[in-house]
Amino acid sequence: MDRVFNFAAGPAAMPVEALETAAREMLCYKDTGMSVMEMSHRSKMYLDIFNETEALVRELMGVPDDYAVLFLQGGATGEFAAVPLNLLSRSADYIDSGNFAHGALVEAQKYGTVRCVASSREAGYTRIPEWNAADFDPDADYLYITTNNTIFGTRYAELPETGRVPLVADMSSNILSEVYDVRRFGVIYAGAQKNIGPAGIALVIVRRDLLGHAHPDCPKVLDWTLMDKNGSMLNTPPTYAIYMAGLCLKWLKKQGGVAAMEQVNVEKAKMLYDLLDASAFYRPTAEKRFRSRMNVTFTTPSPELDAAFVKEAAQAGLVNLKGHRLVGGIRASIYNAMPVEGVRALADFMKKFEMENEK
Ligand SMILES: *Cc1c(COP(=O)(O)O)cnc(C)c1O
Repeated sequence: MDRVFNFAAGPAAMPVEALETAAREMLCYKDTGMSVMEMSHRSKMYLDIFNETEALVRELMGVPDDYAVLFLQGGATGEFAAVPLNLLSRSADYIDSGNFAHGALVEAQKYGTVRCVASSREAGYTRIPEWNAADFDPDADYLYITTNNTIFGTRYAELPETGRVPLVADMSSNILSEVYDVRRFGVIYAGAQKNIGPAGIALVIVRRDLLGHAHPDCPKVLDWTLMDKNGSMLNTPPTYAIYMAGLCLKWLKKQGGVAAMEQVNVEKAKMLYDLLDASAFYRPTAEKRFRSRMNVTFTTPSPELDAAFVKEAAQAGLVNLKGHRLVGGIRASIYNAMPVEGVRALADFMKKFEMENEK
């Protein structure tokens, strides 16, 4: 069977080149006579893979030397707990822009004082909430945001100014898709399965002066300070997922890096939003100013037509377009690995479906 265009929100499509390299190296990596999966995480050969992957993250994102780069387990959801367990002593501010932001806030409440300083929950998360910097606690341990809201298809058009208060960002669904100045953040973290590589890794980038404050009862595997001291190898890291992430990052570098990829991503998203804006049939669900470039959400005139759209698209080789179960409708996730041709094929299908089904 031919490969399809996979619009899944995560785990998501990966670069074919990375998959091909992995297939070629599956049974025998270089001259080791074994698969990467079978290697000790302490072996020289594996440490080379690990170090190269970390170096690629640093190079592609421009991570300064005074930031630690960690590869941990537990996914993004593990970091919902790790953030307060490593940073929260007095009080933290959260902006509630979507389901994952809300989940992070609720998790943090287990560990200390947490304030919600802005929320778009009442508006059905169709926008990034309006905030007033005067509401931020100038002595907060951190201010927490989710840069791209995967389920609702929204993205921060600008970042909040937090002064001395460290900005903590869940970038799970838009990391490496656009240029961010890492210096604006105290902590950036992301689950890997959207735009980094396969599931199984939480990538954490943390400014080193924020280390050393973990709760005494923080589990060792969530303790950034301990993990940094041990090169992410306090225990066995997700070795194969890190290797695969490295292959994906090499591919990204070959595409010209994050800035070049951002241009392609803007072009891909524009293709779909232009079509949605010109149509009386489809309705985009996110407010224009906050539209995500990674997750494009929309509806047809009825839930029945939404379902028919998803089904007929799949028959045409465009799969996993069903919206998240919380919101319904249609969602096209177009991360870095989704080629322009895939988005063009979707746009063509959308035009055809509209023509066949408009009244
Ligand atoms: C997918 C996602 C998560 C959850 O990731 P897991 O790795 O499944 O825990 C959290 N935050 C955002 C923004 C996401 O897109």
